[in-house]
Amino acid sequence: MATARFLGSFTDNLPAPSLPEVAFAGRSNVGKSSAINTITGVSGLARVAKTPGRTQSLNLFDIDGKWIAVDLPGYGFAKVSQTLREQWKGAIEGYLGTRPTLRMVVALVDARLPPQELDRQLLLGLDGARLPTLVVATKIDAFARSKQEGALQKLAADHGIPREAMIGFSSHDGTGRDEVRDRIWKMTRPIPTK
Ligand code: GDP
Repeated sequence: MATARFLGSFTDNLPAPSLPEVAFAGRSNVGKSSAINTITGVSGLARVAKTPGRTQSLNLFDIDGKWIAVDLPGYGFAKVSQTLREQWKGAIEGYLGTRPTLRMVVALVDARLPPQELDRQLLLGLDGARLPTLVVATKIDAFARSKQEGALQKLAADHGIPREAMIGFSSHDGTGRDEVRDRIWKMTRPIPTK
């Protein structure tokens, strides 16, 4: 069982870089909170980030003292003003562009939907920044098991990414959880020192 420690909610002045970080990004309602809970094995963890006043911040969690999960603000809220949207786009881009300990970005997309404009922007931005990215297709349980592989192949092709860059995922039945954990572990394990 993992233990998570909430390190805080930040818009700027993040804690000094220390452990390897993995950031989670996606449109609001994509299933990001559920995915973070499932992947870390700490239920209720990402709910902390959904409390009022924290949804537009970067929320950091220390996982087992081994890596830091960075919950980026869910984007795409229609209700938010343009100014606020610009502010938080700036915070996300600032973080992604400058954080030296950032090892990987988990970009969440909804497996049930064709690529959304905001998904395209995110993937394009990550590609441009040359950040290692894992695309996690959430809510794959919406497809019968026999249809999942076909759906993922189509989604990957529609996004213009290789099939192996995408993992089908479900917080409801645990599909893809071990594979995502494995990728995170590979990207965050300490570099052995002799
Ligand atoms: P967030 O806004 O991206 O953090 O999304 P949440 O984790 O709060 O989930 C948004 C909605 O999607 C909720 O109604 C969840 O029950 C639903 N959801 C999340 N994960 C899954 C999943 O794996 N399968 C299905 N079918 N629904 C999911």
